[in-house]
This record gives sequence, structure tokens and C-alpha cells, in this order.
Amino acid sequence: MRAEIIAVGTELLLGQIVNTNAQYLSRGLAELGIDVYYQTVVGDNKDRLIQAIKIGRERADLLVFTGGLGPTMDDLTRDALADYLGREVALHEPTMSKITAMFAGRGGAFVESNRRQALLVDGATPLRNDTGLAVGNALSVDGTHYLLLPGPPREMKPMFANDGTAWLKSIMGEADSLHSVMLKFAGIGESGLEDLLIDLIREQSDPTIAPYAAEGEVTIRVSTKAANAEEAARKLEPTLMEIRSRTPMHLYAEEDIPIETAVIRLLTSQRRMVTLAESCTGGMVAAMLTTVPGSADAFRGGVVSYSNLLKHRALGVPLPLLEGADAPGAVSAQTASAMAEGALALADADFAVSVTGVAGPAASEGKPVGLVFLGLAERGKETRVTQLQLSGDRQGIRLRASKRALYMLWL
Ligand code: ATP
Ligand code: MG
Repeated sequence: MRAEIIAVGTELLLGQIVNTNAQYLSRGLAELGIDVYYQTVVGDNKDRLIQAIKIGRERADLLVFTGGLGPTMDDLTRDALADYLGREVALHEPTMSKITAMFAGRGGAFVESNRRQALLVDGATPLRNDTGLAVGNALSVDGTHYLLLPGPPREMKPMFANDGTAWLKSIMGEADSLHSVMLKFAGIGESGLEDLLIDLIREQSDPTIAPYAAEGEVTIRVSTKAANAEEAARKLEPTLMEIRSRTPMHLYAEEDIPIETAVIRLLTSQRRMVTLAESCTGGMVAAMLTTVPGSADAFRGGVVSYSNLLKHRALGVPLPLLEGADAPGAVSAQTASAMAEGALALADADFAVSVTGVAGPAASEGKPVGLVFLGLAERGKETRVTQLQLSGDRQGIRLRASKRALYMLWL
């Protein structure tokens, strides 16, 4: 099935807002196995909207609209489609009751134009809007499918994910649907990972293998089209096994979760506690860990020892390591090691991870921007230190150093 996304709104053409809906929908449609061939943006003008529908019909089987379902006179998507199809619009009673109830609850006067949000093009299936008022429309006419979604992303996304997706699946037939497994990797860059998998990536046809890189993490989506989950699993498994066997140290999850979530789950299952001693990341690792619900079961808290003073006083890093002409300095393997051991003792934890490095933009202690030392102290074991040379700007280095610090716990 070939799709076109038609984003409606003059504010998009004026550059006042970014067309994030098109990005979201392109991704969502791809995940359903629907190929998006075009993205169009058109203003709040009925004639041009009808023109866009005519063009869209010639080159796509599915037209997905966002925007222009609201109450005001410039919200024209429904009217344009009804005009184009030569159909009437009719009131969707459940939506109308919801709108009336909402106004009664607020005690505000009912504004007549709000009725417009309850209108359906004749023959359309209503799509529930749990986060707003305007009802979505879905209909198929003469082999073309039309999906009308609201503009505000907080209404559009749940509508697409719930009733919209259910409707799309019903018109596609199960055989078409795409099944994917997300593989998440840490401690390796996109190019490093591609090197390990290069022949698989080159020779892929079914399943497809698509890598995506974000700061400090790489994701690979392995996908196939199948009639049901069992058939998909059968088709995906040989490729997954091959990837697993080639990347044993780096694959941390087979679902789309960040490494902090994987780390908290791992430590919680082992009933072990971690603490942190952060310098150049300034608490970023702690912030990441605490985004995970239930992190208190595995994370003790940590010390942001940004200054040498605090490295010494809070963590007991010996002054001769930090200061003096011949001292290794704050950014050194010795200091990373002493920070981790100091934190471990302070917090009475099972593990401590330390981070010290040069985030930039200027070099420090005569050391280059991007030089980072990570320490891992573990009760009853020898402390380990990893040295990294990271690239990027200050924020990028801090983010990558934080992800790599979490990866220390994964290993
Ligand atoms: P409303 O009931 O708010 O009028 P609507 O369905 O009529 O909703 P629009 O009037 O076109 O939608 O847009 C409302 C708001 O939704 C815009 O001001 C903008 O903030 C957001 N929006 C619309 N289209 C997009 C888009 N393509 N990408 C991101 N945001 C969008
Ligand atoms: Mg509007």
C-alpha cells in the first residue's frame, strides 16, 4: 500500500511550527509495513486542499491528513474531503454528547462552532479522541483510503496509535503487517557495529536490518512481514541468533529501552546496589538512572564531585593525586579509581562507577577534550578503569560519557 501524508495548516507553510506530525506518522506507517511515497503540506484553504486530495489520489492508495479538524472556520479538512467526494457531513452523536457535557462541566456557554468537531463525512468510521474533542474520520471510497487526524500532536498520536492503527490493519489484512524486533547496543558506535554485521546488512532482503544511531546508543530494527506473531518469530529468529552471536558484549536489550532501564532491571534482579561518583557528567548518570521507575531498589545515590575539593573531602581521593606538578590530576586513571573506591565505601553499595574527564570546549590539565576515565569498583574485587577518547561538543561528550558509565555496569 502506498501512502501520502497531507499535513494541513497555514502555520506550517509560514514556518511557525515544525511538521513533527509528518515525522511521527512516517515512522508509524513504516512500522505497519505501509510505504510512504509523499509528504505534502497545504494551507488552510479549501480549494488547495481539494487540489491536494486530487493529486494524492493519483499517486497513493492511502491519504493520511493531520490538522484542520478543529471548531473554527479555518479548519477545513473534513469539508474539503466531503466536497471532493460529493458527500454530506453528519453529526456523530457520541462526540456531540461529549462536547456538550464538557461545556456543561466547565459552566461555560456552548459555542455553536464546537459542533463542527463532531462531524463525520458520510460513511466514515469515527476514531476516538481521548485527549481532545474532534472526532477522527476514516473511510474508503473507490479504492482510496482516507484517514483524518487532528493537528495537535497530543491528540493525533494516541488517535493514530489506537483507533487509527486498528482501522489501518483492518483495511490492509493481517498478511501485510510488519513485525519488528528492536535490538539495543551500547559501548559500540554505529560504524563499529556495522563492521561486525556488514555481510548481513549487505545481503539482507527478508528480514530487513536497519541500524539507527542516537547519542551513545545504537538501535537495529530487524523486521519482516508476516501473518501472525508466530510466523514472524520463525522468520526473524535465524537473523537474531546470528546478530546475538556476533555482538555478545554489546547487545543489552531486545526491546526499545535505554540502557539505564536495562541496568536498573539487571541490578534489581541481582538485588545489588550501585552508587556514583561523577565529575564531568555533573549528575547526568544519576539523572538517567532516576528516570527509571523503581530505581530506588538499585541506586543508592551518588556524589557530584565536580571540584577537587569535593573529590578529596567527600570521596577521600588523596590530594597528591590531584594537586602538584607531578600529580596525575583530576582526569586520570588513578583518580577515577580512587573516586569509585571512595564512593563505594561512602555509600555502602555493591558497585560504584566513577566518571572524570574533559568535556571541553577547552583542554584541561594539558589533556585533550573528550578524554574520559571511567572507574568501576566492586566489593571484594579489583577496581577497573576504562579510558575513552570521545568526540563531539561538550553536551555530546557528557552524554556519551554517561552512557558509557552505565555500560560499565552492564558488563
Ligand atoms: P484544533 O482543534 O486545535 O484547531 P486542528 O485539528 O484543527 O486542531 P490545526 O488547527 O491544524 O488542527 O492545528 C492545531 C495545532 O496543532 C497547531 O497550532 C499546532 O500547534 C499543532 N499542529 C498542527 N499540525 C501540526 C503538524 N503537522 N506538526 C506538529 N504540530 C502540528
Ligand atoms: Mg484548528
